[in-house]
Amino acid sequence: MLSLVVPCYNEEGNVHAFYNEVCSAFEGKVDSYEFVFVNDGSSDKTYQRLKEIHASSPQNVQVLCFSRNFGKESAIYAGLSHARGDLVCLIDADLQQRPQVVLEMLEVLNANPELDCVTAYQKKRKENKLMSAIKSGFYKFINKISDVRFVNGASDFRLMKRNMVDAILQMTEFHRFSKGIFSYVGFNTEYIPYEVAKRESGQSKWGTKKLIRYAFEGIFAFSTSPLKLSTYVGFISSLLSIAYLIFVIVQKLAFGIDVPGYATIVVLVLLIGGIQLFCLGVLGEYIAKMYVQAKNRPVYILKDKLEIKEKNDEQN
Ligand code: UDP
Ligand code: MG
Repeated sequence: MLSLVVPCYNEEGNVHAFYNEVCSAFEGKVDSYEFVFVNDGSSDKTYQRLKEIHASSPQNVQVLCFSRNFGKESAIYAGLSHARGDLVCLIDADLQQRPQVVLEMLEVLNANPELDCVTAYQKKRKENKLMSAIKSGFYKFINKISDVRFVNGASDFRLMKRNMVDAILQMTEFHRFSKGIFSYVGFNTEYIPYEVAKRESGQSKWGTKKLIRYAFEGIFAFSTSPLKLSTYVGFISSLLSIAYLIFVIVQKLAFGIDVPGYATIVVLVLLIGGIQLFCLGVLGEYIAKMYVQAKNRPVYILKDKLEIKEKNDEQN
């Protein structure tokens, strides 16, 4: 069986269209599949719409309803935990990721028994050149400082076998950065190109601020290099200050020149103060994450759950 895990946040205008499109695309091609919709604390009528879908087809639709918005990463985790299939596909609710691509993924996966996962990457990025360049730069940077590999353009639109899903579920960390988790767990992954369609209705939830925060999340979650930064910077600034001290002493002893002290002190205080604050901030980022993780809070909280009803359940 194939499980489709679908995170939904304010997608009232999309979920019915999404459901219908999947059903018609899968007709006669996929025998057994289920939907795992996750309503991530939507403030519109998404849950109402999902209830309607569940009522019309309770044999293959599960709906999980969060108590508030926990974010897409949490929705993915909840969906994966409830998926029952031996194959699981993550897909957005806004029809930007067409269900037909899932069929292509299935073909690729079935053609090669060695594969555990098929991931779709964007053939053409949907944003402008500047944003593309910034994103490529980010991937280069994070690949340099992190032990796991990040693939530029690879989305979380992917089809996985059960063994990979179970591995992901074993990673119970609170600060979830899927792109890193996928590559951390390993497994054989094949990348296929896909074209991002236009959003059916509603707006993207990724503003620039959220994207920047997400990029930093990735760095802090999958690299400890920033922590080592203070060691390097501290070492270099110590060397520089020793060199400066020698310079001052030589000037005084050999040429009898007094170096004006005031300007030097201001520059040094600003420089060293800045470096120290910066390194403290980096430390703080990790400590804050350890603090939250130590509290062991759940990744998501369910308010409601509409379960699969087998045919015989209905008769009872
Ligand atoms: N999403 C979610 N929780 C959030 C933000 C987004 O579950 O806090 C879902 C959203 O409903 C959609 C998917 O994640 O199904 C991708 O979001 P979006 O379309 O806004 O991102 P984009 O396609 O612009 O990258
Ligand atoms: Mg989208």
